[in-house]
Amino acid sequence: CFCELKGSINDCSCTVDTVDHFNNIKIYPRLKSLLVKNFFRFYKVNLKNSCPFWPDDSKCAMRFCQVQNCDEQHIPKGLIEENENTNSAAFKYTKEAQSSSCSEAEDYNSVLSYLDTSLSDQAHREFERWAKHDEAEEDFCILEHQNKGSQYVDLLINPERYTGYRGESAHRIWRSIYMENCFGRKNESKSLSDFIPHLDLNDMCLEQRAFYRIISGLHSSINIHLSAKYLLSESKDFLDPQGIWGPNVEEFKRRFSPETTNNEGPHWLRNLYFIYLVELRALAKAAPYLRREEYYTGIAEEDEEVKLAINDLLSVVESFSSHFNENVLFSNGVASLKFKNEYKEKFRNISRIMDCVGCDKCRLWGKLQTQGLGTALKILYSEKLNVATESGLWERPHIEENPIFKLTRTEIVALFNAFGRLSTSIFEMENFRKVLR
Ligand code: FAD
Repeated sequence: CFCELKGSINDCSCTVDTVDHFNNIKIYPRLKSLLVKNFFRFYKVNLKNSCPFWPDDSKCAMRFCQVQNCDEQHIPKGLIEENENTNSAAFKYTKEAQSSSCSEAEDYNSVLSYLDTSLSDQAHREFERWAKHDEAEEDFCILEHQNKGSQYVDLLINPERYTGYRGESAHRIWRSIYMENCFGRKNESKSLSDFIPHLDLNDMCLEQRAFYRIISGLHSSINIHLSAKYLLSESKDFLDPQGIWGPNVEEFKRRFSPETTNNEGPHWLRNLYFIYLVELRALAKAAPYLRREEYYTGIAEEDEEVKLAINDLLSVVESFSSHFNENVLFSNGVASLKFKNEYKEKFRNISRIMDCVGCDKCRLWGKLQTQGLGTALKILYSEKLNVATESGLWERPHIEENPIFKLTRTEIVALFNAFGRLSTSIFEMENFRKVLR
């Protein structure tokens, strides 16, 4: 059975079997109960940005592409930021600024209030711009939850599943994302299936190969979800007027079997495990920081439950986090800095490409997953956590020792939900395996 992947995961010190066992028994059930909690269920996102690269080519007309609006009354009051309209990095995450004991946000707050009384409006705006710019330098994603047009989306009523989005519009997105990996040698090929086999992994340096594996793993994950929650029938079942959803084994086989993918499918599935280990490693690295978070929604009992559940999940994550070593990437001293910045810019471009996805539901989950991935990379490679030494090597002090490292609520929500998607994909593969056996 082709999907019974065996053996080690490339560029990681681990086998597929071990990840399966660990994920399906220990991680998946914990995430499943955590991600339905209010803190993680409402995600703030802008789905109205226009595509910055080409004229919007298609809007998916299928009803399954639509994102259902969230009833504002259901959003816990504590989640709604008080200073939504301010652009200041200092006020980006008001609750966090209130709850952390010694934070950069607080420093900005006091400086800004001093500036309020001593500087002209123009100078004040200038200062805010610098602060925001400095914060953004760290990001692997465009953070946009502050922009006009952002809305809260209830992820539970908008599950990631089959939408019918396909064809040239979808291919153009995937092609553009993979082409970001071509560091200076863009390929003019029009067809994605023409293009991808030309990426010879042996020709790539480690960082490029990791980039490809991460994107390919994300691509696999999305395609596993749409195969696992496929529209099996549109008949108007009275319990589920939207249709009947469930696993479509033929769809899964078409997408991943060696016969239909020129032997590539099993590699693509293996890349899912790679991105899973990368995000898992980031969660482990940020664990001390994430344990200190308040997860504030204003519903005291639930907030306490979430903190306990996070603590429990992170302990399990930490026990399995040594299989991907982020230090092997960008480890070529100061020369790597330029490359790392280029890499960052490419990930930011991917988050911009998400504004070109012509299906709102796919755009929502595409944005969430790229933001989650961007947050994971920020944790692994933030300059606030990396100090260049005289010998040119990077020191990576532990996140716990670094009081100025900060994540916004939206980043945290995206990080956990994105990891939840990967964990669910690995779990769903188990179901496909059983059926295929
Ligand atoms: P595609 O998945 O479009 O792939 C195109 C080509 O890429 C393949 O022919 C193959 O050569 C190569 N390829 C495929 N998989 C991999 C891989 N893992 N690694 C490397 N190369 C690969 N559809 C939904 O129904 N629901 C969704 O929620 C959804 N979300 C999406 C989000 C984004 C950001 C994008 C870009 C698309 C989304 N889609 C979604 C569409 C879906 O991913 C497919 O593009 C669509 O189903 C068409 O599939 P396809 O068979 O033409 O191959």
